[in-house]
Amino acid sequence: MKNLEKSSEPARETHTERNLGLLQDTWVAAKNAVLELILPPVCRLCNAPVRGDDDFCPVCDTALEMSASAMASACRRCGSPQSIVVNRSAPAESVVECQNCRSHSHEFDAVIALWSYNGRVCDAVVAAKYVHNAPLADAMGRRLGQRAAAYFAGSAVPDCVTYVPSHLTRQMTRGGNAIVSVAQSVAKSLNRPSRGLLKLNRAIAKQAWLDDEARQKNVHGAFSVRKSYASPRSPQIANRHILVVDDVLTTGATADAVAGALKQAGAAKVTWAVTARAVRGH
Ligand SMILES: [Zn+2]
Ligand SMILES: [Zn+2]
Repeated sequence: MKNLEKSSEPARETHTERNLGLLQDTWVAAKNAVLELILPPVCRLCNAPVRGDDDFCPVCDTALEMSASAMASACRRCGSPQSIVVNRSAPAESVVECQNCRSHSHEFDAVIALWSYNGRVCDAVVAAKYVHNAPLADAMGRRLGQRAAAYFAGSAVPDCVTYVPSHLTRQMTRGGNAIVSVAQSVAKSLNRPSRGLLKLNRAIAKQAWLDDEARQKNVHGAFSVRKSYASPRSPQIANRHILVVDDVLTTGATADAVAGALKQAGAAKVTWAVTARAVRGH
């Protein structure tokens, strides 16, 4: 039980908590704006000096771009950057799926992954969880937004953007919930609303510490649609295409649990957008 969060209270966001969160976000944004005015610009990942509005120094930028280009041939279904892909049908919009997706079904319909979870990307993803690294989370949100906008160019854009909820205890440890601002950036890029559609029903252990089977058990039934969106056939969810934003996707257990909850509430399609795609054993 060591891995479990301390509190077993349901993660229900109250009005006061929401206001405190907004106040905290505003304070952090104001502080960062002042710091950017008085300090020379630095890389949002390694603090090396950068030119003008650049988010990253040339070394970090090159590493991130290499990771992004490695994802170009990722499985269209699960986002896995595996080299063995199978082109299943002839049309231009044909789904290119990995071997694993051919034999396993998922509740989610597709994964858009910005980077492969290796090297410098791991540092970036872990650092961005903490509120003092809000500028890094902003930069990641903008890049994931650009990636999502390119992905949906010429096709139907999702109706709404949401994010995977985390437990309040974990948010307090990190000083905030960075994934909310990443989701907002993605929503802005797609010109769609960002809504907190989901809630955690109970505390869950960190998925990274569990094996594949334990991951599924850990998140089974852990997510549901918030009460305000759970009314029968909520117009925000029923027959809608929902884009869920998260930081890392590994086995897809969380993605399946969340997508299952959204589909139970009537969602027509659930696409996943993650900053990084990890592969077990890599
Ligand atoms: Zn750097
Ligand atoms: Zn796949």
